[in-house]
Amino acid sequence: MENINWSDLSFGYIQTDYNVRCYYRDGKWGELEVCSSEIINIHMSATCLHYGQEAFEGLKAYRGKDGKVRIFRMDENGKRMQASGRGIKMPEVPLELFEAAVLKAVRLNERFIPPYESGSSLYIRPLLIGTGACIGVQPAEEYLFLVFITPVGPYFKGGFQPTKICITREFDRAAPQGTGTIKVGGNYAASLVAGEQAKEKGYTAVLYLDPKEKKYLDECGPANFFGIRGNSYITPQSNSILPSITNKSLMQLAENMGLTVEHRPVPVEELATFEEAAECGTAAVIAPISQIDDLDENKSYVYLPDGKLGVVCEKLYNKLRAIQYGDEPDPYGWVTVLE
Ligand SMILES: *Cc1c(COP(=O)(O)O)cnc(C)c1O
Repeated sequence: MENINWSDLSFGYIQTDYNVRCYYRDGKWGELEVCSSEIINIHMSATCLHYGQEAFEGLKAYRGKDGKVRIFRMDENGKRMQASGRGIKMPEVPLELFEAAVLKAVRLNERFIPPYESGSSLYIRPLLIGTGACIGVQPAEEYLFLVFITPVGPYFKGGFQPTKICITREFDRAAPQGTGTIKVGGNYAASLVAGEQAKEKGYTAVLYLDPKEKKYLDECGPANFFGIRGNSYITPQSNSILPSITNKSLMQLAENMGLTVEHRPVPVEELATFEEAAECGTAAVIAPISQIDDLDENKSYVYLPDGKLGVVCEKLYNKLRAIQYGDEPDPYGWVTVLE
């Protein structure tokens, strides 16, 4: 990195100075190690390569107007990674270890944290993989927990761009009692074909239905879904949705703004009743949806016909961003300020 043009960053990987690693061997976690190599040296029969023992997280750090660095809801990501570990028989990363690793990775790479005005932020990627060698199908004896960071640009350059997404019943990203509720790579592999097909047809994402009955909304590939109707914030509940921390935060903010939060199964037809619809997740915070095409039913649900952002979405977005950047107080204790 010689000269990073902060306002020109995309949502991609840039090499930074260090990552931090911790190895699980003989039934226990070792010490955090600082590493300057981007390469992982693992056995060719490691379980992460063959049997999908892999989980990851995504969170962000923001530099505020005051120059201070804030990490958003790191404890929630730590707990979710523990749930992912339990879900595919990997050891839990203790919360203290998770947070220490995140803080260390951010501090060691401080020069990569974009300045306040740039609209860019620091993406933090924790990773947990089975590294022990196995040929029979079983959990590994050894694991690697790693945290790297990379600066990323704003998801939408030059303000919101409402996107078109589609519904297809041809593919599921997760099984009804499967791994949809945990953040594992296998779910992403399962979504690649549907995702590419959607892109070829001009959509930015697939809105998946519940895999059992295909009657209810689940979520978009890498983001949760919500709709606004009147005074209600409505977001699907199901056994195959990944619990988004952004969605959880928006539900809390919506409630405090006087909206009614409905977290329940949402039938597909209800899409016709929403005034606003959006995707939410760490990367974009809120990505407004202009249209949802149900490809099998030949139906379209149109939002934002005037191309403007929904009023409620914008309010929620501004509130959450203000807390993340420290522009407004954080009454929820969501933010860890780096000293
Ligand atoms: C990570 C992820 C999200 C978004 O979660 P956040 O915690 O808000 O970033 C939503 N859906 C899936 C499938 C995910 O993997």
